[in-house]
Amino acid sequence: MGILFQGGTIITATETVQADLLVEGETIALIGQNLNSEGHETVDCTGKYLMPGGIDVHTHLDLPFGATSSNDDFDIGHMAAAFGGTTTHIDFATQRHGETLAQGLEKWWRKSEGIAQIDYSFHMQMTDPRDDVLDEIPSLLDEGITTLKLFLAYKTMYQISDGEFFRVMQRAAEHGMMVMVHAENGDIEDILRPTLIAQGKTEPYWHAHSRPPEIEGEATNRAIMMAALSGCPLYVVHMTCQQSVEALRRGRTQGYPVMGETCTQYFFLTAEHLGLPDFEGAKYVCSPPLRTEDDQETLWQAIQDGTLQVVSTDHCDFWFEGGRGPWQAWAQSHPKGDWAAYERQNPNYRRPGKELGRHRFDKIPNGLPGIEDRMLVMWEAGVNGKRISPMKFVELHCTNPAKIFGMYPRKGTLMPGADADILVWDPEAEHVRSAATHHMRCDYNVYEGMRCRGKPVQVYLRGRKIVDGDRWLGENGYGQFIKRQPNAPIL
Ligand SMILES: [Zn+2]
Repeated sequence: MGILFQGGTIITATETVQADLLVEGETIALIGQNLNSEGHETVDCTGKYLMPGGIDVHTHLDLPFGATSSNDDFDIGHMAAAFGGTTTHIDFATQRHGETLAQGLEKWWRKSEGIAQIDYSFHMQMTDPRDDVLDEIPSLLDEGITTLKLFLAYKTMYQISDGEFFRVMQRAAEHGMMVMVHAENGDIEDILRPTLIAQGKTEPYWHAHSRPPEIEGEATNRAIMMAALSGCPLYVVHMTCQQSVEALRRGRTQGYPVMGETCTQYFFLTAEHLGLPDFEGAKYVCSPPLRTEDDQETLWQAIQDGTLQVVSTDHCDFWFEGGRGPWQAWAQSHPKGDWAAYERQNPNYRRPGKELGRHRFDKIPNGLPGIEDRMLVMWEAGVNGKRISPMKFVELHCTNPAKIFGMYPRKGTLMPGADADILVWDPEAEHVRSAATHHMRCDYNVYEGMRCRGKPVQVYLRGRKIVDGDRWLGENGYGQFIKRQPNAPIL
């Protein structure tokens, strides 16, 4: 017995077609007109769209950050993602200095195995590219990990030198892997930030001044040139501004193997939010920082013309008012403890959050909630706002992420043989984004009060219904690690 989705409009990146869709087991068996329903459970999709489950290729669940960690983990974060239509995500497993890649990965296996509720994969975030670590790169392919993330920012923590960056690219290229880059010039940031602090400019507002668009444009261009030289495919994460988008456009015009993404928040918020009174600006501290309305127009243009291929979230949420309850005592007795589990047992306690930087913007944990909001607000502003078509929406949020990251056609589209990751999307369903109703473990929502029309009313992951209206039907351990394929295309 299968599940027959009847009477809906199927939307993929390339077509919009009225058809029935049959799921058998975990995959799509058949798409066609008036399919025979005999022996199948049926789902009436009249007036609804059927779209592939969303893929968010840039998230930071349960990410350690100084004295704390990002709130959402592979349990709650997965549920929140699915309520927003995302059924697969790729997180960043981090190698710390002195560690091997395998040791870095091991920590992320522990965070996810047996807990995951949606499908997932990891990028390898490499911060210490020693010779023995470079030799370890090919072993990642055995794990189905095909992407290496490198930093040109965060001096003294994550940043690597240009020479190291180039050597990793050479190695990655040999094995059909792709390099992803956080492109901001960390050396310059490391001069601007302490200067502002010394001048007493310590409020969240100054965060944007410590990381101006020029340092993003410069580092993006540098990484692109290294991609051209090494022949290694490059994917620039969280692009925010005209300076970097122009660099990418030039590189692509030259035929270099370079691609890029932006993140949801950069379409909606500006650096003005950082200047909100009463420390409210801290809610909006992320890196690269929010920019201007002109930059927002640049980003809309860049997704329309294909300069940018993907919209992700960089989801990394922290409490606005954290550090409640006797968390210090607990932290001391559990130095590498699982904060999320602790908070679940003690709902009135909160790990530290944005308040860590109340007196200095550079102490504010970087990041915003967004894994749940991405497709909801982008549908509203993009599709309802007539900036992108429904097919383009699917391309940016589902299909391109699957192709670029080696999961296509298993993920990212609706076709026979693909995983039955299906959104039953009601284009008329009205809702308001709010921290009071969202599923993310966070006490604020950056789209608070935004009215939206259109959302997934049912979500299926590999043939199993995990969201039904407001009901959560997912299960810990059902989420699978997806092994990805190397030699992914340059789109
Ligand atoms: Zn990130």
